[in-house]
Amino acid sequence: MEKLKYEKPVISKITAGVPSKFGLPARQKIISEIDGIPVSKLMEEYGSPVFVFSENTIRNTYAEARQAFETRYPKVQFAWSYKTNYLDAVCNIFHDEGSWAEVVSGFEFEKALAIGVSGSQILFNGPEKSEKDLTLAINHNACVHIDHFDELYLLMEITQKLDKKARVAIRVNMDTGIYPMWDRFGFNYENGEAWNAINRIMLADRLELIGLHTHIGTYIMAPSAYAIAATKLANLLVATHSKFGHWLKYIDLGGGFASKNTLKGAYMPGSETCPTFDDYAEAITNALISSEIPHENLPTLFLETGRALIDDAGYLLTTVLANKRSSTGRRNMVIDAGVNLLFTSFWYNLGVYPSKSPSEYLEETTIYGPLCMNIDVIRDAINFPHVKTGDQLVIERVGAYNVTQWMQFITYRPNVVLIDLEGRSHVIKKKEDLETLKNKEVKPE
Ligand SMILES: *Cc1c(COP(=O)(O)O)cnc(C)c1O
Repeated sequence: MEKLKYEKPVISKITAGVPSKFGLPARQKIISEIDGIPVSKLMEEYGSPVFVFSENTIRNTYAEARQAFETRYPKVQFAWSYKTNYLDAVCNIFHDEGSWAEVVSGFEFEKALAIGVSGSQILFNGPEKSEKDLTLAINHNACVHIDHFDELYLLMEITQKLDKKARVAIRVNMDTGIYPMWDRFGFNYENGEAWNAINRIMLADRLELIGLHTHIGTYIMAPSAYAIAATKLANLLVATHSKFGHWLKYIDLGGGFASKNTLKGAYMPGSETCPTFDDYAEAITNALISSEIPHENLPTLFLETGRALIDDAGYLLTTVLANKRSSTGRRNMVIDAGVNLLFTSFWYNLGVYPSKSPSEYLEETTIYGPLCMNIDVIRDAINFPHVKTGDQLVIERVGAYNVTQWMQFITYRPNVVLIDLEGRSHVIKKKEDLETLKNKEVKPE
């Protein structure tokens, strides 16, 4: 008898139709269209991969956030966090909704001006502001959120040189029960540095202190941390008034609200566990309204919400390149979008979905991007149906940070498309080509 050829055994769990300890499995979710446009049509028109944004979702999410705060507090102003997504078309929607601009670099400041935001509606954050950046900000009457004493002294010098006044706030860092504490930005509350900075600014003729700022971190799951932050800033506001008889105009609580994405290692999906805008608003406005600040002097509440306002509005459409087995028999899938486009895949378990009805059979799968590097993993373990080469997939909740932190590596960056309120699609950033990349290169003679 001929010896049978050896084949390495593979054990895989069959989950199709089998109840788990939570009951019958949910059907595989499918995303076949975005705002009424079929995924296949978008990819035919704009290629693969392609980022797609929904104007409808942006406006609805913003309206929800605004309503949560405006129904609880008399003076609220959002400022769009540019670094979260600074595509002109996206910023324009936020500005059209009434948002100011929150920028963290000279580049972002210039971008906001170029879009048409008035300088007086730009909040200038960040640890790196050059003399040139600060001069631009002062000349445009922006509000500079001072990060450290060296910046404070530089501002004093520049305002003297220009013989102009600067409108300023300070960034405060503090213990809100969230660790590790983001204490590398701004002046510390607990050790008295923030109070010291306030005193120095009040002494400087050409600096007008108008607000206090903090940004306690990002993806903060505890609304109570914001209540602590609001209380501490309110304390500084009251102290400033008692000593100088001066009420500051605003308190800025920065960004950091969690989006519905699921953090790696989380047991439950983020969409089930994240606080709502109402939860954050309740915590923050309770703290301000019940502080020692008299109601007629309540400051404007600024919010620089980034990811929670845009994550849901962004999708990445991608194509399956290959299915293979690893040395251990594990199912591997390769798609045409990698970590070069999805920076947030390093900390989220992004939702990846087929665009049409797949097989019932799910198998634990690792999803790789197309790059020639081992860390190009979009999902290291996802129960995924069998799909074929050429099948189209949709990755959801990728609106925040990916189209700013993406990198040009190995391949071109793709088209970005916006679907407007009438359901029409527009390219808002064109795919790169050789020309784009060679444009800035210089070959020495
Ligand atoms: C990044 C950033 C934001 C936005 O943060 P999210 O976590 O995306 O809401 C707001 N303010 C400052 C100062 C930032 O650096």
